Amino acid sequence: MEGTAPPIVEARAVLKTYDTGVVRVDALRGIDLSLERGEMVAIMGPSGCGKTTLLNCLSGLDSVDGGQVLVEGTPLEEMSDRERTDMRARRMGFVFQFYNLIPVLTSVENVELPLLVSRVDGHEARTRALEALDLVGLAGRASHVPDELSGGERQRVTIARSLVNAPAIVWADEPTGDLDSENAGEIVALMRRLNLERGLTFLIVTRWRSPPESSSGWCSPRSPRPTMSRAS
Ligand code: ADP
Ligand code: MG
Repeated sequence: MEGTAPPIVEARAVLKTYDTGVVRVDALRGIDLSLERGEMVAIMGPSGCGKTTLLNCLSGLDSVDGGQVLVEGTPLEEMSDRERTDMRARRMGFVFQFYNLIPVLTSVENVELPLLVSRVDGHEARTRALEALDLVGLAGRASHVPDELSGGERQRVTIARSLVNAPAIVWADEPTGDLDSENAGEIVALMRRLNLERGLTFLIVTRWRSPPESSSGWCSPRSPRPTMSRAS
């Protein structure tokens, strides 16, 4: 089947318009893109250019107003809400700028949460969560709550959480937006390592203009629309 598998995600002429009744915003004006298994792609653009909207449309969190999104060959509009939710839980991981960790839960509890929601057995969930924390270099922080972690460590916890369900793709929305440049560089390097060593597929959106050396293949935004670059 190798070589014949459909792209993990494909957008065809995607349109998205927000209409608040007062203003109309054409957030996406005909986006085409295709992401293959094992790729790490950055979408860059200034604030307000539609990066989050694009991620939400590609992951099926939001619906499109024109065009089509296919995930692993299946058009999102052919799935029910339930199927899309299930597909996200099983096939996708999410990393956000502000971590979205639950403050009263420890690192390992935050990481195992998606598995427990998917009704994975508690013992297995704990084992897999500890493995994921180990992968991001945080085995020693398993019983810390988010308040006891640095920003960079928190983001590593969310990366562990995003990959604990062995997803087909991880979406990262400005994953370094809240970090200083040193921590930001480490987070990008970590994602790149997971991409190269584990074959994880990443789609990262960012406002970054001067990416660090470890992320060859990234480019600067020069247009008000997101631009895409491949790191491979
Ligand atoms: P980015 O993530 O690149 O900063 P967004 O995707 O959040 O950009 O927003 C793109 C455009 O759509 C912006 O002009 C924003 O104001 C507008 N927008 C985003 N979400 C909504 C919404 N729920 N209702 C109305 N307008 C929105
Ligand atoms: Mg955004």
